[in-house]
Amino acid sequence: MVSEKFDIPVKSSFVPAVLQPNARIKFSCHQGISCFNACCQHADIQLTPYDILRLKDNLGISATEFLKNHTVPFEMDKDGVPGVKLRTDNGGACGFVTDQGCRVYKDRPTACRYYPIGHMLMKRANDPEEESQYFLIQEDHCKGHAENREIAVDDYRNEQEIERYDQLNREWLQLMVKKRSAGPTIGRPSDTSLQFFFMCSYDLDRFRRFVLADSFKASYDLPDAFYESVEKEDLALLQFGVRLLNQVLFGDVTIPLKTNALERRLEQRRELLELRKKAEIERHKRKQEQQMKDALS
Ligand code: SF4
Ligand code: SF4
Repeated sequence: MVSEKFDIPVKSSFVPAVLQPNARIKFSCHQGISCFNACCQHADIQLTPYDILRLKDNLGISATEFLKNHTVPFEMDKDGVPGVKLRTDNGGACGFVTDQGCRVYKDRPTACRYYPIGHMLMKRANDPEEESQYFLIQEDHCKGHAENREIAVDDYRNEQEIERYDQLNREWLQLMVKKRSAGPTIGRPSDTSLQFFFMCSYDLDRFRRFVLADSFKASYDLPDAFYESVEKEDLALLQFGVRLLNQVLFGDVTIPLKTNALERRLEQRRELLELRKKAEIERHKRKQEQQMKDALS
């Protein structure tokens, strides 16, 4: 059996025994615990597109600002597919940890909600559907495992309000699984594709400008209502980003193209080249005239 997986980031080593959704774990985390905040002092938190949306709204800043001030880029695989992690200080502490706990707790990222459970989306060969798998992460600094409370994995997910995150992360995670499943057959994506992936996944502001630009509207056959919704709603834009990535990177065509869009683009390019050529001839002519004037004076 061949399996493909994309790991939701976990903060450290984990006990690699698969937990079923109804499996019970012994764990509790609360403000009075002796290790309070210890996990956030060594944070290695990879962010999903929905994490970024929630966090930038929590902070009241744009996605571009959030990426610039609160994240660091990294490569998610050997082909350089770009990921982003929460920025930490030099000692590894998350930028959002305070003495009272997490400053963005209401909108904390998926990985923070799951901890100490690790989550993977897996795809088995010949199985069209990906499936979630869970693992228990046990680290010495985390004393929550010694607390006297048992809880089922699914109940823990409910307690941490993970379901919405999982729903909104799922299609994007499926892209990663698809990329891995394709293996070397699709080769290393071009730098342009990698930049496109970054913009569609993480930088909603830049992606919005891209979608609302005339050149995009000239290529895709989408109704006005679509443009109105993505202009106003981040979530609609984020979900559209995954659709567009699927179409552009994997040829999964769900967004109608305008007929003659390619021809029109080629025509525009031809016109542009023609204009550049004319400008160049004009410049050359003026230079020659100037040289003649200089020679005669
Ligand atoms: S976002 Fe909050 S919960 Fe997550 S590592 Fe940072 S401080 Fe801790
Ligand atoms: S119990 Fe674990 S998750 Fe909770 S604060 Fe302590 S180290 Fe962090």
